Amino acid sequence: MTVIDLRSDTVTQPTAGMREAMSNAPLGDDVYGEDPTVNRLESYLAERLGFAAGLFVPSGTMSNLLGLMAHCGRGEEYIVGQQAHTYKYEGGGAAVLGSIQPQPLDVQEDGSLDLSQVLAAIKPDDFHFARTRLLALENTMQGKVLPLTYLAAARKLCDEQGLALHLDGARLFNASVKLGVDAKDITQYFDSVSVCLSKGLGAPIGSVLLGTAELIGKARRLRKMVGGGMRQAGGLAAACLYALEHHVERLAHDHANASALAEGLRGLGYAVENVQTNMVYVQVDERAEALKSFCAERGIKLSAAPRLRMVTHLDVSPAQIEQVIATFADFARR
Ligand SMILES: *Cc1c(COP(=O)(O)O)cnc(C)c1O
Repeated sequence: MTVIDLRSDTVTQPTAGMREAMSNAPLGDDVYGEDPTVNRLESYLAERLGFAAGLFVPSGTMSNLLGLMAHCGRGEEYIVGQQAHTYKYEGGGAAVLGSIQPQPLDVQEDGSLDLSQVLAAIKPDDFHFARTRLLALENTMQGKVLPLTYLAAARKLCDEQGLALHLDGARLFNASVKLGVDAKDITQYFDSVSVCLSKGLGAPIGSVLLGTAELIGKARRLRKMVGGGMRQAGGLAAACLYALEHHVERLAHDHANASALAEGLRGLGYAVENVQTNMVYVQVDERAEALKSFCAERGIKLSAAPRLRMVTHLDVSPAQIEQVIATFADFARR
């Protein structure tokens, strides 16, 4: 039985082409800056996203942490979404390891932070307060794409208020494919960007932090400090390069699959949130556990949550989406 795993887009297996690229990659010691494949990945992505430099790290969590720590010192503050990954799902790393105070704000319906709330949250220069240094946005945010006009407004506010602007772009390319724009059209507004290659792009491991040469220099020092300096890491970087060369445009298929899944489940009477990219949120309420085990017995892996998130990725086909919808129908009839 082939398993259909909809828990996340992190569950993909490297493709044959990716494995071949991994095994053929030239290697060196990346802590010495001598891994040619890591260097190629860093400069390739920096160029593609319009930055001076990039830094390869094992995870998006580390990439965000290094970005936050490179922007903010001890006792300084960043403004972030209450539901944002860097605030809620990274073990409080910015506070624990960086002594950076988060100022969380509720995320709006469209995945943005209300800029008037951001403005109001910026602390005056007064010794009672932490110094507000940075605004961190996330795109996509729970599958939602932030409009370019919003990003331009956020940039303007940061310029006026002397804040830096960081993007948790774990799924940056889902956003660019959805908007039909170059990823650079999104990243142009930011001082630093973290991109995950291990989500929908299908690499086994790897994120890259992008920024100015100075910021990336700081982040490189911090990466060593938190134990993220890897040695012959080029095999992993090769998988990331392969993903960037072969798996970006195909994200549109994941988006189409997610829309088809949403449509099918609506047809069965479920309340499904509007789908923009590769995430489907459906209200299953108290049925969560029963649905999870019913599907598990039929080869479909789901999380158990009242507001169930299902994520499409390169190991999910349109036929499998039909199978999932049929299984939900069987569940309703059981
Ligand atoms: C997955 C994810 C991260 C962190 O990536 P890891 O590689 O799992 O540490 C950061 N931000 C968002 C929005 C993510 O989805």
